[in-house]
Amino acid sequence: MTDAADLAPIREAVRSLCADFPGEYWRRLDRERAYPTEFVAALTKAGFLAALIPEQYGGSGLTMTAAAAIMEEIQASGCNGAPCHAQMYTMGTLLRHGSAAQKERYLPGIARGELRLQAFGVTEPTSGTDTLSLRTTAVRDGDHYVVNGQKIWTSRAEHSDLMLLLARTTPREQAKSRTAGLSVFLVDMRQARNNGLTIRPIRTMMNHATTEVFLENMRVPAENLIGNEGEGFRYILSGMNAERILIAAECIGDAKWFIDKAASYARDRVVFGRPIGQNQGVQFPIARAYIGMRAAELMVREAAALYEAGKDCGAEANMAKHLAAEASWAAADVCVQTHGGFGFAEEFDVERKFRETRLYTVAPISTNLILSYIAEHVLGLPRSY
Ligand SMILES: Cc1cc2nc3c(=O)[nH]c(=O)nc-3n(C[C@H](O)[C@H](O)[C@H](O)COP(=O)(O)OP(=O)(O)OC[C@H]3O[C@@H](n4cnc5c(N)ncnc54)[C@H](O)[C@@H]3O)c2cc1C
Repeated sequence: MTDAADLAPIREAVRSLCADFPGEYWRRLDRERAYPTEFVAALTKAGFLAALIPEQYGGSGLTMTAAAAIMEEIQASGCNGAPCHAQMYTMGTLLRHGSAAQKERYLPGIARGELRLQAFGVTEPTSGTDTLSLRTTAVRDGDHYVVNGQKIWTSRAEHSDLMLLLARTTPREQAKSRTAGLSVFLVDMRQARNNGLTIRPIRTMMNHATTEVFLENMRVPAENLIGNEGEGFRYILSGMNAERILIAAECIGDAKWFIDKAASYARDRVVFGRPIGQNQGVQFPIARAYIGMRAAELMVREAAALYEAGKDCGAEANMAKHLAAEASWAAADVCVQTHGGFGFAEEFDVERKFRETRLYTVAPISTNLILSYIAEHVLGLPRSY
């Protein structure tokens, strides 16, 4: 599907929903570091978060291009998709690698939004980006696994029923290969909370509902293992392209919001007897940000088109995420500069969006790791880590 007239109704529907959640709503939540329950409920009810779940499981069965358009419009409307974007893509691991019974059991509830699968427990405090060195273990004990360890930056854990968890099932030195020995589990957090699972919120510079998660003798039924034991790293990697493309689309939406806001302010604000936007020193940085956003947008569309054609899109998904995160951050900076002092005032929403979009050159993957990927996998340079 191309992103043209056929997606206009979806874009319009998202914009219309977002209009009910204006700046005051987000400002209040930001001050209180509260979860946008009503916003997430509205997106769920409209079926947007079930975009990528096939119709046979009750989802909307849309393409990646359509899903990306949904996330982009949310951000371009000044809203924030981060509190729920993972509900859209975390289920991909279950969809691709889960058993028929697991999919029948969970996907319809996820599609209806009755089951929230939007917690993703991969990062740990000591391993960081080096996922293969994670220390959380899952040891088989009869018809259960017993899990011990700690995760960090497990976003939305307090607002999720299920968590996709990556843990080591074979000690690293006994694993068949460098990437073997890790397994993926679908953890029912409703049962596990206070039964070995403790969640502690982390207060961050933006309102992100992120947490650290402590796992102490947490028992997970063996039937909740996804796919084969020891192959979990591959399953997690297979979901990364979708995550990168969707977050890149969010960054495009953010960049559009910043550019619109900056251009509009530059047209209206009069200093020295003329609009500030008449000065090339003000208009050129906005034009440059626009050019950067449009170039990034092309790469996001290319990555989404390859993804939905079932082709390898690792390089394009990484480049899209990189370009889009840089474009949104550049646009955010220009937007603050254009607003002068008012760029710092809460009621303009610029400083809030500025803080929110800063995340994306660091998470879900940081710039350096994308550059390493391109250097190694596209340019054939030696692996650097
Ligand atoms: C708000 C927020 C939400 C998040 N949500 C989730 C989530 O839901 N689930 C989850 O599992 N994780 C989540 N993360 C974690 C996120 O994916 C990581 O923070 C990110 O991948 C970077 O890892 P790190 O913080 O451990 O940094 P580190 O790995 O410690 O790296 C620190 C810096 O060093 C650089 N660096 C490290 N190694 C190299 C190298 N070999 N070459 C060059 N540079 C290098 C990195 O690029 C980075 O800039 C979240 C993080 C944040 C901040």
